[in-house]
Amino acid sequence: MQDCIFCKIINKQIPSNIVYEDEKIISFYDVNPMADIHVLIVPKVHVESINELNESTLESVKYAFSKIPEIAESLGIKDSGYRTIINTGKDAGQTVKHLHIHILGGSKLPEKLV
Ligand code: 5GP
Ligand code: ZN
Repeated sequence: MQDCIFCKIINKQIPSNIVYEDEKIISFYDVNPMADIHVLIVPKVHVESINELNESTLESVKYAFSKIPEIAESLGIKDSGYRTIINTGKDAGQTVKHLHIHILGGSKLPEKLV
């Protein structure tokens, strides 16, 4: 996807602060952190949002989820806890149209989600 900022990060056309990468996913720090630790986990396959998932692309999201504990541990927040968020569409404030999981932690998060 030519104009997708996360595809550009995946293709190393723009830099990011990578915390984990393999052939299926990439994880990097959010450029505008909303918590002490805020990273994104991004399946490398371009899928706009949860609404566009199919059986095949769901596999990459499942794989991304399976890697959350390992990535959280590497960030030192596995046991202290963290919040996972996936925004879908306008009302949720999704700004990047490439499905991604937010991981937020590093200190006590607000109890209210919204
Ligand atoms: P969304 O609002 O779509 O759920 O989340 C998009 C996230 O991507 C935002 O938290 C935003 O700060 C982050 N973001 C947008 N552009 C870049 C970028 O170029 N680099 C990094 N590291 N994060 C980005
Ligand atoms: Zn993309």
